Amino acid sequence: MRMEWLPFRPYFSTALYGLRMAKSLYGRFPRECTVCGYKGRFHAFDNPLHIGVNIDSRCPKCISLERHRLVALCDREHNLFEGRDVLHFAPEPGLRSYIKGRHPKSYVTSDYAGAADLQLDIEKIALPDNAFDVVYCSHILEHVDDGRAISELYRIVRPNGLLLAMVPLTEGWDESFADPSKATTDDDRKLYFNQEDHIRFFGRDFRDRLAAPGFRLEEFTAVEPYVSQHGLIRGEKIFICRKPA
Ligand SMILES: [Zn+2]
Repeated sequence: MRMEWLPFRPYFSTALYGLRMAKSLYGRFPRECTVCGYKGRFHAFDNPLHIGVNIDSRCPKCISLERHRLVALCDREHNLFEGRDVLHFAPEPGLRSYIKGRHPKSYVTSDYAGAADLQLDIEKIALPDNAFDVVYCSHILEHVDDGRAISELYRIVRPNGLLLAMVPLTEGWDESFADPSKATTDDDRKLYFNQEDHIRFFGRDFRDRLAAPGFRLEEFTAVEPYVSQHGLIRGEKIFICRKPA
């Protein structure tokens, strides 16, 4: 490359990268959806860990994301919902239909602001103790006072019952990052926590936070061959938290 082109080289390579990304917005590889059974190309969608997009993220049929397909995969192995009283916080449409189709004994949804059976405050849950066999709580604890919420979730799960918890998590961090001074504006929350309504980014200590009220933890991790087959995030985890009998 001639000397006078060198200053433009980074801009040129970024433009090429943008073109490659644009070609992948509607799918790079065919995948299979564990939630609805669709086979084909998925769409690009938000990256929950970094500012940016995930390629092959969202199923065009049921709009499931990687984490929802991981739950359906985990259900295949652990039969999480059948015959159980299930509470689903912030119910995602594809997963809502999926869980209903798994024949739970009862199925109740809750969304603090949206259309659902209940509008529960997760930091102060208006339900009796030991109310549900399975509570599914995905990508909520980074929005709220997680200590209060986890303690309330422990209270409403029956002995021998399960909390299924998922959050955006950085395994490279020993400790979660939260700083109220960096959570005062939408831009700051997006910069530090990757979304305008997040107030924390979890590290490995998320496990200790879940275990604090008494839960015993198992982990279900996205590994091959399922990552490539179903379009999952490598290493993403469902924390299966059991309340002792
Ligand atoms: Zn689907």
